[in-house]
Amino acid sequence: MTKVPRFFIASTFIALLLLSSASLSAQNPPQTPQPTPAWASSPQTSQATQQNFPPILLQQLSAIKTAALNDDYAYRQVAHLTENIGPRPSGSPQARAAAEYVATELRKLGLDVRLQQVTVPHWVRGAETAALVEYPAMVPGATQKIVLTALGGSTSTPTDGLTADVVTVDTFDELTALGHDKVAGKIVLFNELFDKQKAAAGQAFAAYGEAVRYRGAGPKAAADLGAAAALVRSVGSADYRLPHTGFSFPAPIPAAAIAAEDADLIAHLSAQGKVRMHLTLTPQKLPDETSYNVIADLKGSEHPEQIVVVSGHLDSWDLGTGAIDDAAGVVIAMQTAEVLQRLHLRPARTLRVIAWMDEETGGAGSKAYTTEFANDFPHHVAAIESDAGAAHPLGFDVKSSTAAIDALRPVQSVLQSIGATVLEPTTYPPGADIEAMSNAGVPAFGLMQDGRTYFNYHHSAADTLDKIVPTELRENAAAMAVLAYALTNMKDPLPR
Ligand SMILES: [Zn+2]
Repeated sequence: MTKVPRFFIASTFIALLLLSSASLSAQNPPQTPQPTPAWASSPQTSQATQQNFPPILLQQLSAIKTAALNDDYAYRQVAHLTENIGPRPSGSPQARAAAEYVATELRKLGLDVRLQQVTVPHWVRGAETAALVEYPAMVPGATQKIVLTALGGSTSTPTDGLTADVVTVDTFDELTALGHDKVAGKIVLFNELFDKQKAAAGQAFAAYGEAVRYRGAGPKAAADLGAAAALVRSVGSADYRLPHTGFSFPAPIPAAAIAAEDADLIAHLSAQGKVRMHLTLTPQKLPDETSYNVIADLKGSEHPEQIVVVSGHLDSWDLGTGAIDDAAGVVIAMQTAEVLQRLHLRPARTLRVIAWMDEETGGAGSKAYTTEFANDFPHHVAAIESDAGAAHPLGFDVKSSTAAIDALRPVQSVLQSIGATVLEPTTYPPGADIEAMSNAGVPAFGLMQDGRTYFNYHHSAADTLDKIVPTELRENAAAMAVLAYALTNMKDPLPR
């Protein structure tokens, strides 16, 4: 089919509208004038908004954007965090070393840095193997390997594994319908599909939200019905037989994510008859560890007590090196401070860079920050987190009042040249670590990256440095820095 240009569709539509309104007005008395639709009005900012962004501030924002787009500071930092330090699971020596490294680097930039102590869980992966040992029309003596990885916090099977029948369900309702008798002693597989079409159409996080419920709550639900172990279809969009780990609510049974291809295999064989699996998972829960949030201030010259947070999280899963989740977010935030210092731009309000600890396994870092600073949240003007990868930025998800979004129109103009203009109102806090601040009324921003391929790699062994495109990382650094400096230096603080 020949493609119809969008413009053609739009102009035809408008012509039809005009025709129909002309014929209506012939019959009816004139209507009250309607406001000019957005497509017909020239972009305008109100007088109040213009006063909030004097010309000197707009020039500074442009200079910040240009400086960030022409610098590889963030890339050098993300390379160090991922390749020299490596995977940074909560409680690991690498996570702690990463906090110390980021603190040192931010001190080098001249920031006032502290390491805030956080007590974190420490769970370590062990052996993880599985094979189907009985299935319809099995060749005698054969087995079929299942590719899997333990979910965070999983308990252990016996050292030499366990063998049990597998029951496959697509939904929690199906599990409930089976009941205790058909679930007890079995390995339950939750086979909820990740909706790749949603991801391809730009709704990757909606697809993730639908599927991840089974990773989060499935093992506990299976354990409650007496299951011996729980498996979930990996929450990811890759087609390379790759398992994706992640957080799961504590359950007293071993739990793992299997590759999507193996979930299909088990579902197909189960439809034909009995399927038995031998499963070995030997992770260990070690004593809690001391770790750190990095909190680094560039003190405001006029309103030091007013704080604008830029942030990402330092901890990662252990399978890859946590490049897109979320070393990228940390270095994007670090670069905001680096650019301001390089350009000798002093923020009027305090810019606070935070590298959060333990986003992936319970949010101990965010909780520790809230415990210490909740009384100060009324002075937190805004909080930004980047935790959706490093691909081309489209703008920001925003949890705030409409007035706050309106007040930021000049930021959209500055970011127009890199396409990061979206200020999308959300009903949920747009970042796990800034959730408590957002719930306390602090305007919250999540850097919105192109998420189409994010879940190919997310929480898998393939989350590595090569997935970050240097020019796209620079665009992200520019978007974060421009918004952050606007928030620190607009005349009136962002309205709540
Ligand atoms: Zn993350």
